[in-house]
Amino acid sequence: MAAAHALTSDTHTRVAATVPKPASLLPRGAFDSHVHVFDPTIGPYASNRAYTPEDAPLDRLIAFNKSISKYGTGSSIVLVQPSPYKSDCTVLLKCLQELQNQKRAAYGIAVVDVQAIQDTELERMHKLGVRGIRLNFQADGKGVDIPGLMASLRTAAARIAHLPGWIIQLFVPGFVWDNIFDGVRTLPVPIIADHLGGMRGASKLGPDLAENPLQQPGFNSLVRLAQMSKLIIKVSGLYRASGSTETCYHDTRPIIETLSREVPDQCIWGSDWPHTGEGKDRVNGDLGVKEPFRSIDDAAILENVREWVGGEGAWQKLMTDNPSRLFQ
Ligand SMILES: [Zn+2]
Repeated sequence: MAAAHALTSDTHTRVAATVPKPASLLPRGAFDSHVHVFDPTIGPYASNRAYTPEDAPLDRLIAFNKSISKYGTGSSIVLVQPSPYKSDCTVLLKCLQELQNQKRAAYGIAVVDVQAIQDTELERMHKLGVRGIRLNFQADGKGVDIPGLMASLRTAAARIAHLPGWIIQLFVPGFVWDNIFDGVRTLPVPIIADHLGGMRGASKLGPDLAENPLQQPGFNSLVRLAQMSKLIIKVSGLYRASGSTETCYHDTRPIIETLSREVPDQCIWGSDWPHTGEGKDRVNGDLGVKEPFRSIDDAAILENVREWVGGEGAWQKLMTDNPSRLFQ
């Protein structure tokens, strides 16, 4: 089967254990709303980056995207600026231009210096499909500076509020939603909560919370903000939320089930291809050594998520209706 074979052609991805079932492949009009390109041949990494990833050029991304799509042409994609490029969006914008040239539906989430960037540059980005900016406050073991985070959110929101359809994508540890609840409620732009809003499955929670992962700090705030339409939650990066590789991250099921039941119109899906590694593992990393990507069975994740969201209607919203409302 062509789809299964394409998954194995990626030399940095373990041979996929699961042959994708057509029902769990991306339907027509679907979005993969979180992918990256790493290509040092078209733009340099920042010298102060935390790690150097393997290469993941655009043609490999397109091949991956086709391999998980029910129809061979592929889905819409949202390119997210990855951290090794810091705020240099050269590669992101070149890829968006190339995707436009290929008549592929593609959008981007950029990282910018919100103090310094010119409005004309933001408008150029918009024309190429950029629809938001990314803030990463995933703390890598350090505390999260809540006043600093709120100040960054407000500054970023003020810079992009006039741009049609722009959002802020935010990756924070889950508990942070309790601390920024009121601030997010009054922001003039919506937020995309990255990677399940930083929530964790039982395998990454202490023994008391593992019994009831829905009680973990921040979860209630995350759901309430989504109910107020202030927040969109990205069902992505399950391997960041769970250490339970052998069950294909089954302990994220209660979180995904609950989100899909409580806020079915506020969830979108992303593969997080090419599946970069874990920040905490790279503190003394050698920038001269390319860090391998994780081995992820994307087909198995898609099958699980399809089952967990609880029905065809919720799957359609997650994959197609919600992202197409968000990215226009
Ligand atoms: Zn990512």
